[in-house]
Amino acid sequence: MEEKPALSPTPEPIAFIDLQAQRARIAGRVDAAIAKVLAHGAFILGPEVAELESHLAAYVGARHAITCSSGTDAILLALLAHGVRPGDAVFMPAFGFVAAAEMTALIGASPVFVDVDPESFNLDPASLAAAIEEQHSGSLRPAAILAIDLYGQAADYPTLSKLAEREGLALIEDAAQSFGGTLDGKKCGTLAPIATTSFYPTKPLGCYGDGGAVFTDDAALAQIMGRLRVHGEGKDKYLFKEVGINGRMDTIQAAVLLEKMTIFDDELARRQKVADRYEAVLGDLVETPKLMPGNGSAWAQYTIQVDDRDGFAKKLRADGVPTAVHYPVALNDVAPYANYPTAPDGAPVSRRLAKRVISLPMHPYLEAPAQDRILAAIRKALS
Ligand SMILES: *Cc1c(COP(=O)(O)O)cnc(C)c1O
Repeated sequence: MEEKPALSPTPEPIAFIDLQAQRARIAGRVDAAIAKVLAHGAFILGPEVAELESHLAAYVGARHAITCSSGTDAILLALLAHGVRPGDAVFMPAFGFVAAAEMTALIGASPVFVDVDPESFNLDPASLAAAIEEQHSGSLRPAAILAIDLYGQAADYPTLSKLAEREGLALIEDAAQSFGGTLDGKKCGTLAPIATTSFYPTKPLGCYGDGGAVFTDDAALAQIMGRLRVHGEGKDKYLFKEVGINGRMDTIQAAVLLEKMTIFDDELARRQKVADRYEAVLGDLVETPKLMPGNGSAWAQYTIQVDDRDGFAKKLRADGVPTAVHYPVALNDVAPYANYPTAPDGAPVSRRLAKRVISLPMHPYLEAPAQDRILAAIRKALS
């Protein structure tokens, strides 16, 4: 019989973020924890919620952790707790996730988009200072700085804190991507008077649905945010103290997170190994992410910069390597936010990054053979 030529096998696609690999590791424990909640039936603010809050507070080193329904609601709780209201200006990066801008606009305050640093991708203090200065002569009341720790690396809080203090502004840390990261030995989630995070499934620490938390050392702010997430309710039901939201975390999600926390530090170490390997091989080929001195990243994303992003992504896809773009457009360039103020510099770095950034597969279970394939595909695409 004639021998058939071997078909060149279509490469099996690599996962961008492989949640099933993590599930395979802890499914038994997570499912048992969920079953326990199903059995006791306290689906809202059950015992796992308080237990998780004390674990989270201890983990980051904050006095208070209050869980909530998402990272977006966490930002809303932080803004409301600081009394941000219509007519207020909230300074935030033009390059980042939309939640900060969205919640600010939703309560009638105004996002003011500030440029980011080309190396860290985080708020550029010079652009921020200029934006605040400009608003002094405008009609908005400068109220808060909302910094995002993009891709897992903390923003420059020592500088931001000084600026916030000098200007009398609240400072909020959006640690949705940096939970597990550190700055000068302090955990992300403690770098501003209120920090927020997200437990969306693909975040460094993710649940099996939506979830989030706020962190603070301030007992009064903690109390307000605790009330706000339950309609502004005080000790007595229906005796409301402020206009709040339904922003609770489900007990089932808290149970899932308690189990996932037991392997979280190991997962962070694995992410670091993946990032180290990427840097070792790609460092001389493309613009790789740079950590600022004193920073330990949670590596929510591993994001490089290339000139022909679409062509690069297409070539990688053909080799079974997925990529993602966080984010393809600066926030001051998307319709709902285009009419809010931008820093006097016009946020040129944000606009340039939006055209060039591309994220590679990154998760704790990205093993060497898969990483070899990714790196080979990148070398080929760049040659
Ligand atoms: C994911 C994310 C959020 C929103 O979190 P959700 O839980 O999806 O609402 C906010 N900010 C940043 C920087 C994020 O990455």
